[in-house]
Amino acid sequence: MSSNPIMQFQDVFTMAAEAQTISGSIEIASLTRLADDLINTSGALNYTLTGLINQQRQPHLHITVQGTLAMACQRCLEPLSFDVDVDNVLHMVHSEADLDSEEDELNAILAGSDAPEKMVGSDMFDIFNLIEDEVILSIPVANMHDVCDEKLPTSSGQKASAFDVLAKLK
Ligand SMILES: [Zn+2]
Repeated sequence: MSSNPIMQFQDVFTMAAEAQTISGSIEIASLTRLADDLINTSGALNYTLTGLINQQRQPHLHITVQGTLAMACQRCLEPLSFDVDVDNVLHMVHSEADLDSEEDELNAILAGSDAPEKMVGSDMFDIFNLIEDEVILSIPVANMHDVCDEKLPTSSGQKASAFDVLAKLK
């Protein structure tokens, strides 16, 4: 999006130190890792990134992303929109050595810790990649209608009845 003044690469430590906020919209079509899961890539997602320093003097990044993705139901394959609502805080560290080990992370989860996930930041941090990551993580593993039949157009009704027949044969 050439009209977008937001730079893709940001110094997240300066953002945290100066409590900077950047917000904008990102074209859904530019989120290429998402494309396979979408039936339509038109539209955009709105995002806000806010840097902050917590009480322990650690740099954090608060990310929110909102918008709607045109996906397909994994049960009936008919259109199903998914409302993106990312609201996450990340603890920005300076190197991979500062990251928790997987064992530490697992223990923290088991202990019910709500400490923010650590992520390696930089002065050239790819915020668009982060937005894409967070959106992908927010999508349910099985994105399905609550009740498929109610959403089906009549022309697809035969599919459902064919499944019913198969179910009875079992
Ligand atoms: Zn469905």
